[in-house]
Amino acid sequence: MVLWALDLRALTVVRSDVVLVAILCGVGILHTEVAAGIERLHRRITKTPYVDLSSVWTFAGAVLLPPAWSTLVAIVVFNHLWLRPWRRQVPVYKQLFSTATVVLACHAAAAAVRYLGGGLELAPLALAILAYTTVNTALVVGAIALSAPTTTPRPRPTEMFGRLDDAILELSTLCLGAVTAVLLISKPWHLVLMLPPLVVLHRAVLVRQLEELAATDSKTKLLNAAAWHVQAARELRRAQRAGGTAAVLMMDLDHFKSVNDLYGHLAGDEVLGAVADAVRGEVRDHDLVGRFGGEEFVVLLPGLDSEHPGPTELHTIAERIRHRIATLTVAIDTPDGSLTIDGLSASVGGASYPGDGASLEQVMKAADNALYAAKRNGRNAVHIAAMATPPATPTTAPAAPEAAAS
Ligand code: GH3
Ligand code: MG
Ligand code: MG
Repeated sequence: MVLWALDLRALTVVRSDVVLVAILCGVGILHTEVAAGIERLHRRITKTPYVDLSSVWTFAGAVLLPPAWSTLVAIVVFNHLWLRPWRRQVPVYKQLFSTATVVLACHAAAAAVRYLGGGLELAPLALAILAYTTVNTALVVGAIALSAPTTTPRPRPTEMFGRLDDAILELSTLCLGAVTAVLLISKPWHLVLMLPPLVVLHRAVLVRQLEELAATDSKTKLLNAAAWHVQAARELRRAQRAGGTAAVLMMDLDHFKSVNDLYGHLAGDEVLGAVADAVRGEVRDHDLVGRFGGEEFVVLLPGLDSEHPGPTELHTIAERIRHRIATLTVAIDTPDGSLTIDGLSASVGGASYPGDGASLEQVMKAADNALYAAKRNGRNAVHIAAMATPPATPTTAPAAPEAAAS
C-alpha cells in the first residue's frame, strides 16, 4: 500500500516535469518560429551572428526542472534554432559547443538555486542568473582565447567579452527567464503574454545591428566617414565641456594607385583591410578610427596623456602607425598562388584641439594641411600641425610596392 502511494507520487512528479518540459519546448519553438522572419531579414543584410533570446526558456527550465529534464529543454530549444532560422549554417562543432555551454550554464543555475534552499524567491533566482551568465561567459571567452591566433592582432576585449549592451541584453533575457519560471508554476497559460514583448526585443536587436551596419565601412570594418564625423564631433564636444584635449590624425597611403595597377583592385581592397587592422592595432580601444575616403584613414584620439601633452605624444603615435604600415606584409591568396605585398607607406598629418583649432572642422583642416606637408616632404612621413619643425624621422623615399609570389 505504502509502495503504491510512493509510486503514484513519483508518477505525479514525473508527469508534472514532463508537462513543464513540453510547455517550455513548445513555447520556445513557437518563439523561434514567430521571430524567424526577423532573423531571415537579419541574414539578408549581415552575416554577423544573431543574438538569440532562447535563454528565456532554457533558464526557466534550469531553475524549475531536474538537471536531466532541463538538459532536454536546452537541447530541443537551442537545436531547433540551428535547424530552422540558422538553417544549419553554423558549423556542427560550433553548434555542439554552444549547446554544451548552455547545458552547463543551466546546471550551474540549478546548483545556485539548490544552494540557497530551492524555491523561486528573489535571492536564489538572482544567484542563478549570476551563475548562468558567469559559466556561459567563461566558456565562450575561454574558447575564443584558445582559438585566437597567437600572432597579432590579438582579439580586443570587446571581441572576447562582447559589448556592454550585449551583456545587458543577456541579463534582461535571463530576468525574463526568471519571470517565466514563476509564471509557469502559477499561471502557465499566461506564458503566451511573453511572446509579443520578446518579438519587440528581437526587433530592437535588429535595429541596433542595422545601425552598426550603417556606421561601418564594409571593406575595412572601420567607421565610415559619416559615422566617424558624428562620433568624433561628440567626443570633441565632451572635451570642450570638460576642458580636455583631443587630437586628429589623417593618413593617406602613398602611391596606392600603383598597388591597384600592379595587383588589381581586389588585392588593393585586401591591402586596405590590412592597413585598417594595423592602424586599429596601434591606438587605444576608445580612439575612433575611420575610413575617410578611398585610401585615407582618420583617427580621433581623445585626451592624450597629460604628462606629455601636445604634439610630442601625438607625433610618437603617428610615427608608430607610419612605421607599422611601412613594415606591413599582406599575404593574399590568388588563383595563381599566394602573393605577398609589402613596401607600402603612408603620409600622416596630425593636429590637436585646442591648440590647432576650436572646432572639429578646424582641427581636421589643420591635420589635412599637415598631411599634405608630409606628402610634400617626400611621403612616408609624419607632420604635426603645431610643430614648426617636425623632429627628424627615419623616413626614406617610398619605393614602389613590391610583390613576392610564392
Ligand atoms: P599619393 O601618394 O599622392 O596619395 O598617390 P595615390 O596613388 O595614393 O593617390 P591617388 O589619389 O592618385 O589614387 C588613390 C587611389 O586609391 C586610386 C584609387 O583607385 C584607389 N582607391 C580608392 N578607393 C579604393 C578602394 O576602395 N579599393 C581599391 N582597391 N582602391 C581604391
Ligand atoms: Mg588619397
Ligand atoms: Mg594616396
